[in-house]
Amino acid sequence: MTDCIFCKIAQGEIPCRKVYEDDEFFAFHDINPAAPVHFMLIPKLHLASLAEAGEAHAALLGRMLVLAPRLAREQGLENGFRTVINTGKGGGQEVFHFHIHIIGGGNIPPMVRRS
Ligand code: AMP
Ligand code: ZN
Repeated sequence: MTDCIFCKIAQGEIPCRKVYEDDEFFAFHDINPAAPVHFMLIPKLHLASLAEAGEAHAALLGRMLVLAPRLAREQGLENGFRTVINTGKGGGQEVFHFHIHIIGGGNIPPMVRRS
């Protein structure tokens, strides 16, 4: 996708603080972190959101989920971390290139507050 900010980051056209790269995936620190450690794991393949994922993406998504804890550990999150996937406008997604937020290292509050 020519006009996608995360495609451009993965292709080195926009600078980032890189965490990891292989043939299929790219990870980089969030520019506006919600916790001491906050980075994004993305597939190099442009997929707008989880809502666009189909059976053909199943293995890719599986490899991505298996990679997440390894990268979290390498970033010092031995005690655990939060993964967040925002999907679509209704899910608060702002960048329409599928990504997993990996967040930790601070006081992580309950994700959903119940009154
Ligand atoms: P989402 O709401 O799930 O689409 O999250 C998009 C995330 O991308 C936000 O947490 C932003 O802070 C982050 N972000 C946007 N632009 C950049 C950038 N150029 N480099 C790093 N992170 C970014
Ligand atoms: Zn993209």
